[in-house]
Amino acid sequence: MKILVINSGSSSIKYQLLDMDTESVLVTGLVERIGEAGGVLTATTYPGTGKEKLTRLETTIPDHSTGMKLLIKQISDQQDGVIRDASEIDAVGHRVVHGGESFQQPALITDEVVDAIKANVPLAPLHNPANLDGIRVARQLFAGVPQVAVFDTAFHQSMPPSAFLYALPYELYEKDRIRRYGFHGTSHKYVAFESARILSKPLAECNLITIHLGNGCSMTAVQNGRSVETSLGMTPLEGLIMGTRCGDIDPALHAILHRSRGMDIEEIDAMLNRESGLKGVCGMNDMRDIHAARQQGDRLAKLAFDMFVHRIRKYIGAYFAVLGRVDALVFTAGIGENDREVRKAALAGLENLGIILDHEANGRRPGDWLRISAPESKVELLVVRTNEELEIARQTVEVLG
Ligand code: AMP
Repeated sequence: MKILVINSGSSSIKYQLLDMDTESVLVTGLVERIGEAGGVLTATTYPGTGKEKLTRLETTIPDHSTGMKLLIKQISDQQDGVIRDASEIDAVGHRVVHGGESFQQPALITDEVVDAIKANVPLAPLHNPANLDGIRVARQLFAGVPQVAVFDTAFHQSMPPSAFLYALPYELYEKDRIRRYGFHGTSHKYVAFESARILSKPLAECNLITIHLGNGCSMTAVQNGRSVETSLGMTPLEGLIMGTRCGDIDPALHAILHRSRGMDIEEIDAMLNRESGLKGVCGMNDMRDIHAARQQGDRLAKLAFDMFVHRIRKYIGAYFAVLGRVDALVFTAGIGENDREVRKAALAGLENLGIILDHEANGRRPGDWLRISAPESKVELLVVRTNEELEIARQTVEVLG
């Protein structure tokens, strides 16, 4: 069964074609700069096989429809493509950022589902419209092919009200659905599933703390296989310190900045999302640059690193209390998978929680996964490479039965 996974952004379409009989990736690609100057498609055919073929095509891409046609042409190209034509694609899986409370599971896309995604636009004004663009165009170009929406928020719909509500006037929840939703659900779900497999335990019996550290960062407390608490909130701003996002702050800050600096809401919102986090503290948002600067003795780079790690440790403690029993801590995404320094600092001195790191293992490069706990550690420590596209393809197959 061949599944095309689409992650449609405002000016880009990320795509992957997977053969789900073997769970192998046939093509992975990116259409960029849609509606801007310098449109470009880059793709790798048969990635990771040692027989990769690279494609790079620079052309004007005025809209998503042109972008989607371009990627269909790339995967079905006579010479370099992997299928003869688009009819070989059995289904399309779409990443959708915000499913609100409407979607606890992935959904087969119908007009009603599209309307429900539209209804959630106020909750994700940047992301859902771009996701809808991808869905609209794919439904036109793949008429008759089943399409499935997979939501970033769905995994966290199992959180209880005590975890998902803000302590605000209750009618804000009843009338405006103001509450915590959580994000990165596809990644947390994928690594939870893989961890259960590594632990040789049914997922429904696993208690895990999954730690997604990429450009965006979030942690999830997984109890008996289900998300019961997560660090991102109503929007992807709450919780951990991120590349450019602040994470937890005192909400009174808005009023203070307004009064003291005359900043308006839009300016404050932009600052908290784009000029804060690691970048706000030290001017850099890539952890590799921060390490290089720390080694040169850069004081603010060191401070940004210490703050980033401190916040993770605070949440580890909190999620131990939420879960009671923890089988494993699982690191994933760009920093979680690659950064031994962050893992080491985040886990240091937690022996009383049953956490003992194997420093030698922590220094190894992970393949699909890596165990980094010492044999005497009560809690397993894992690094699991996330794979959101595969998870979307798996969920698409599941929906189609
Ligand atoms: P992601 O959003 O999962 O693609 O993660 C992107 C982030 O991961 C980058 O901004 C970097 O901060 C971080 N990253 C990627 N590779 C490494 C690495 N080898 N060491 C440390 N951080 C890394």
